[in-house]
Amino acid sequence: MKISVIIPAYNESGNIIPLTNKLNEVLINYPNRQILFIDDGSTDNSLEILQMLHQQDNRIGYISFSRNFGHQHALRCGIDHADGDCVISMDADLQHPPELIPDMIKKWMEGYDIVYTQRIEEQGIGFFKKITSAMFYHLMNRLSDVTLEPGTADFRLLDWRVANVIKNSHEQGLFVRGFISWMGFKQFKITYSAAPRHSGKSKYSFRKMLSFALNGITSFSIKPLRFSIIAGSIISALAFVYACYAIVVYLFYPEKIVPGWASVLVSVLFIGGIQLLFLGVLGEYLGKLFMQAKQRPGYIIKESSIHAKS
Ligand code: UDP
Ligand code: MG
Repeated sequence: MKISVIIPAYNESGNIIPLTNKLNEVLINYPNRQILFIDDGSTDNSLEILQMLHQQDNRIGYISFSRNFGHQHALRCGIDHADGDCVISMDADLQHPPELIPDMIKKWMEGYDIVYTQRIEEQGIGFFKKITSAMFYHLMNRLSDVTLEPGTADFRLLDWRVANVIKNSHEQGLFVRGFISWMGFKQFKITYSAAPRHSGKSKYSFRKMLSFALNGITSFSIKPLRFSIIAGSIISALAFVYACYAIVVYLFYPEKIVPGWASVLVSVLFIGGIQLLFLGVLGEYLGKLFMQAKQRPGYIIKESSIHAKS
């Protein structure tokens, strides 16, 4: 039985060694293991550290991207290249406690295909992160067709059969969290409290979080497109009612007519705004189709300990 642990890492030089030590410690009973770091185009010396670790112990591997492709792509790459009987994904910053892994493996051996984790206590999480994360889960669950539990990050164990489904999916920019919820299988949840980051600062900028959330929502729902139909209909109906009112006033109460600058301006701006908004929504989906049609790879590997010989 082989255990794979995959870890996306972007400029995590201060965390790689402590995490590896911790993993070696908690996985002492699983000598047949693979610890695979995916270096997402780090600009610090993460890669050198990984090369050194690989030389010391070839169960520690790395894949290094040609540039920063983003956490979700790194995760996908890890799943694509892991060869264990189960694949555990986690963050590099020790916010996901490695001590939980033996319990996850135990549950997997009991027959669960997916063992996922939920963060309950959030001492290590900042106020802004809490608010934006809560908003994201709320929106995602209202708008999309999959249900995501708040606080379920990418710290989970997948049986190799589940990992294979992901490997074989051709969806570009796969939103792993949503896809897993959508897949089904026998799932088990373990809760934990998140520790503060061990070293460095969060690699998820506001821009990255926004793009992550937009991708998540538009990957799993066409409801935003339907909203445009509903909003469009409501606004047209209101405009029609207003037109009727204007005609009535014109015909029967001409003395009441006032130059209607304000109302014209307000309605033009309002409708213009709504149109732009939904053009944006359309554009988002069109962009997705465009990216999918190009079939461009989600990530490019510059070098890796796995591909060294090919
Ligand atoms: N990460 C990555 N590429 C990125 C951003 C983040 O591989 O472009 C990794 C990062 O190194 C970490 C994990 O994704 O292992 C989660 O990122 P982070 O801890 O910064 O996010 P947060 O915990 O603040 O949500
Ligand atoms: Mg983190």
